This record gives sequence, structure tokens and C-alpha cells, in this order.
Amino acid sequence: MLAQTESNNTLVDRYGRTVDYIRLSITDRCDFRCVYCMSEDMIFLPREEVLSLEECVRLVRTFVDLGVGKVRITGGEPLVRKNALWLFQEIGQLPGLRELVVTTNGSQLEQQAQALRDAGVRRINISLDSLDAERFRKITRIGDLNKVLKGIQAAKAAKFERIKLNTVMMRGFNDDETIALVDFALRQGIDISFIEEMPLGEVDHTRASTYVSNDETLKLLQTRYILVSSAETTGGPARYWRIPDSETRVGFISPHSHNFCESCNRVRITCKGELYLCLGQEDKVDLMHLLRNFPNDDAPLREAIIGSMQIKPKGHDFDLRRAEPAVVRFMSMTGG
Ligand code: SAM
Ligand code: SF4
Repeated sequence: MLAQTESNNTLVDRYGRTVDYIRLSITDRCDFRCVYCMSEDMIFLPREEVLSLEECVRLVRTFVDLGVGKVRITGGEPLVRKNALWLFQEIGQLPGLRELVVTTNGSQLEQQAQALRDAGVRRINISLDSLDAERFRKITRIGDLNKVLKGIQAAKAAKFERIKLNTVMMRGFNDDETIALVDFALRQGIDISFIEEMPLGEVDHTRASTYVSNDETLKLLQTRYILVSSAETTGGPARYWRIPDSETRVGFISPHSHNFCESCNRVRITCKGELYLCLGQEDKVDLMHLLRNFPNDDAPLREAIIGSMQIKPKGHDFDLRRAEPAVVRFMSMTGG
């Protein structure tokens, strides 16, 4: 089947999958250096190689015109980008957009949660890998747990429709905190998802040495809670379970142990304007030069996005047995 946009402006790839969800990384910079995500001495991009906020809005508007209904803003840490709030306000007003969401490490939320909610952000994902301040520091290298906990409280006060914690499980780092983290989510009345570590970018440890399968995490949780499988799906790699008599859903994002590619509905855009068709593959289209070479004409950009549907790969091939990373770019570049 040929890639196409259907008459109702839907992006459909050559395997018949509709792409209606984009994740846009607005910066590669971050105020943390999580051990699974970055190296300690990361070198960040010079300003001129990063999309301006105006370019980000133009890009998102073009995707929304092509039928994309859901946009996730991510990074790096999106909320450390200067004037990020303006971007949320602009995107939040785009006609045709159903859902604006953000993934953040929570460090800036105490100040920004209410303004994000007011800009139209409906749901928020906050990364939290440990409830122990010292350990939190070890995983993030420079992060302050207390700030993040205050950020979570600010998000609750701002009344997002859903708040979800994202936890990357790592053997020897936080694999003994699984139940404590779910207890915390239950007490807060929020969701939590466990993520299997992905081999993105060169880090200080081998990924196989820290890998914890979500099946193991699920089995452990089943010794403590009744978990009822839920049919909910976001078209991505997550499976959800409910804990009866609570607001909390427990998700498992399992790129290794459960293949999710046949229902993939998303593409990712880096802060350099590269459109990656798959998190685990190198296939990409450079959109920045189209934004910059045709400042007043969206047609080439539109054509490139439609054309990209022809090269969206069938799936990723993460393999923990490989010594080298599956893809050399870090998650902070592609946007998680
Ligand atoms: N800075 C924000 C944050 O941490 O939430 C947004 C960007 S971060 C790259 C997005 C998500 O990717 C976070 O939940 C993080 O834990 C996750 N992540 C980063 N590197 C990862 C890896 N190698 N494997 C699995 N998840 C990863
Ligand atoms: Fe920063 Fe998020 Fe990567 Fe941690 S996971 S280093 S908070 S971008």
C-alpha cells in the first residue's frame, strides 16, 4: 500500500498505520543528567541549530493540519527552555488539536504547573525513579528530589486531567522500590508507568546489566496488589492495569518484551527539526531546512511530511545482547 494522506487529511503509512500523534523535543538541554539518558559530560547543541519556538509552532500547526490530534512536548527538559510557556499557549489554541500533553522531570513544575494547565495542557507525565533523596541524586546525578515532590503537588493543585509518573526500572539502582513507588502513586491518586530501559545512546553502564523486564515488575506487584488488566491503549507500547477501589492505573512500557510496532501511531521530531519515523531506527527527514528555506511557504514542509510516511519502518529491533547501543542518539535528543 502506498503512503498517502486521505481526503480527510490523515497521515497513513505504507503499512496502513495512521499517524495522529507527534512528540516534539523542544530542547536537548536538561537540568538533570539521568544515568540511563545522558552521559555525564553531555555537549549540547548551539542555539542556532535548535528550532526556534516560532518554528516549533509552525511545525506543529502543519502536522495538526495533516490530521495530527495529539502533541506531546518533551526534551531534554522542556520546561527549562526560555519562554516554553509561550509555545504551550500557542499550540494549545490550534484548531483541530485534541490533546496537548507534556513529559517533564518535574523540577520546574512548582512554578509552572498552573500556567501549563491554563495554556491547555490536559495531562502531564512526570519522571520519578526513586523516593530516596540520595538515590534520586545518584540516578539523576544532579537532581533534587524535594523539588520534584513539590512539583508533583503543584501539578495536583493545578488539576490536570491525569498525572502519570514515569519510572525507568534499573537493576541495582531502584528495583527494590517498585512497591514503594506504587504505594506513593496510590496515596497521591495518580498513575504510574514502569519503563524498560532502552539502548539509546552510549552511557556508563551496559544496558543488559541494569535491565529489569516489566514482566518481573508486574509479577512482583501482583504479590502485593490485585491488578485488573485494562483494555485502554494509547496506540503505543504501554499496557495498563487498574488497582480496584483506587484512581491509580499502573502502566508498563515494554519495548523489549512486548512488541508494539504494528499499532504504532506516532512520529518524533528532535529539537534540530529531524523527523524520526521510529524511536528505534535511523530513518529520518530533515524538516529544519524546509522551515528555514521556505519561511513563507508551508507546501514543501507539508509534502515532506506526507512523503515521510513512505519510509516509516515496520518496527524497531532493540536487542540487549548487542554491545553497542541500538541507536547512537540519546533519548534526550529524540524526545521520550
Ligand atoms: N526530561 C523529561 C523527563 O525526564 O521526563 C522529558 C524527556 S525524557 C528523555 C522522557 C522520558 O524518557 C523520561 O520518562 C525518561 O525516564 C525516559 N528515558 C530517557 N532515557 C531512557 C532510556 N534509555 N530508556 C528508557 N527510558 C528513557
Ligand atoms: Fe533530563 Fe529527562 Fe534525560 Fe533525565 S530523562 S536526563 S530529566 S531529559
